[in-house]
Amino acid sequence: PATYRDRRVVVLGLARSGVSVAKVFHALGAEVIVNDKKERELCPEADELTALGISVLCGYHPDDLVTSETALLVKNPGIPYTASPVQQAEAHGVEIVTEVEVAYWLSEAPIIGITGSNGKTTTTTWIGELLGSAGFNPIVAGNIGIPLCEAAAEATKDNWIVAELSSFQLKGTSAFRPRIALLLNIAETHLDYHGGMEDYVASKAKLFDNQTADDVAVLNWDDATCRAIADHLAAKLLPFSLYVRLDQGICIEPPFERGKDSDKEHMIVWRKEDGTEQAILPVSALGLPGRHNAGNALAAIAACLAAGVAPEAMLPALQGFRGVEHRLEYAGEINGVHYYNDSKATNPMATTMSVGSLSAPIILIAGGLDRGSDYMELLPVFRDRLKGLVTLGQTREKLAKVAELAGLTNVRLVEPEEDAESTLRRAVREAAGLAEPGDIVLLSPACASWDMFASFEERGRIFKESAHTL
Ligand code: ADP
Repeated sequence: PATYRDRRVVVLGLARSGVSVAKVFHALGAEVIVNDKKERELCPEADELTALGISVLCGYHPDDLVTSETALLVKNPGIPYTASPVQQAEAHGVEIVTEVEVAYWLSEAPIIGITGSNGKTTTTTWIGELLGSAGFNPIVAGNIGIPLCEAAAEATKDNWIVAELSSFQLKGTSAFRPRIALLLNIAETHLDYHGGMEDYVASKAKLFDNQTADDVAVLNWDDATCRAIADHLAAKLLPFSLYVRLDQGICIEPPFERGKDSDKEHMIVWRKEDGTEQAILPVSALGLPGRHNAGNALAAIAACLAAGVAPEAMLPALQGFRGVEHRLEYAGEINGVHYYNDSKATNPMATTMSVGSLSAPIILIAGGLDRGSDYMELLPVFRDRLKGLVTLGQTREKLAKVAELAGLTNVRLVEPEEDAESTLRRAVREAAGLAEPGDIVLLSPACASWDMFASFEERGRIFKESAHTL
């Protein structure tokens, strides 16, 4: 990064990560220009940067923002490659990266990078807890925690940066090389942004591109797309599996059987390269319920073993971890009915996992932004697992159709009320009406929230409040 002294760096997008990138290059003596299409009033972060003498242009993209004088464009991951400054950079041959790449350039600490379609935040947080309680010094960063650049700037060789990484962030990397890289799973999601599955998988696979034989790649052996990546690895492979008895890696004994509940005791075991094995703990002792969380635990254990944590030192955080808000979060018992907030389930795969990990009769509340996912994926869980469905948002009719094909009779379609909050409150009342004592009401929408709410957090909070004011 020192090579950018006195050179022009354009930072596109003024979110928290943009601010931290701008400060990094300013401190290095680069000429930094920050640009955001949002109006100035909507960019409260701008003041802090202008006070430092950094130029901030808000409200439009200037035609000559990126020129042949520009040395680097750092793009916010959410900004599409069709945005005019990105096109200008491409036309002038200017390097385009995301904040993640810059963080890698800066960081003295080794990085554990976690990606996948589902389970990133849970697994990242869990790895942070495991390392912390084992006396390592993790800094949790990326999509959760602090921006990666901030973490990289403060980290020393004695830290581990634990980074949650999205495919959008990874798409803008070139030299980024995590010491330990995890790919949890790949589902069909975000296809609108990537324009297809191939680009999405390629972005995720970039996590492994610069790894060498000194690095470790943790891959989900139950996922065919993840297994295919193993053929192209330079790093040492450490696979994990819930369903296969691996010769080497982290798995369970006996393995689960697909599509079948189990009443057996399943032990998590580490099969080492030297042919020996070590039992770690039973799946039933994990702090989080559900098979998907057992998978997240296997991935987290693999990452921590690769970082040098002894299995015994992991036990407290494996048993004590209670998960993250809005991820299959227990929201309490009201009139004998149990409420779960899984607002973060924004695609059919996540909802399938959550529904599958609860055992009482379930009234599901689902629906939201229509991203063109294949909602037919939900048919088996609708048929086998649900007692009722309450559906709202843009996808309500599509989901009701799947429920009809699944032969579900207790279906309520909630039409939009005067505002989104009232609509969701209505849905909660409908669900409560279908539930009997001992049942579960689960908000697990299978869709993003932006057709109605500012965020999945807002949706989850309103759900919890509505349940408690029934
Ligand atoms: P991400 O950060 O990738 O969105 P989260 O940890 O926030 O993932 O979990 C989001 C939702 O995905 C959870 O509510 C849960 O229903 C589901 N989920 C969590 N882990 C997995 C997994 N390994 N496989 C499938 N679904 C999962």
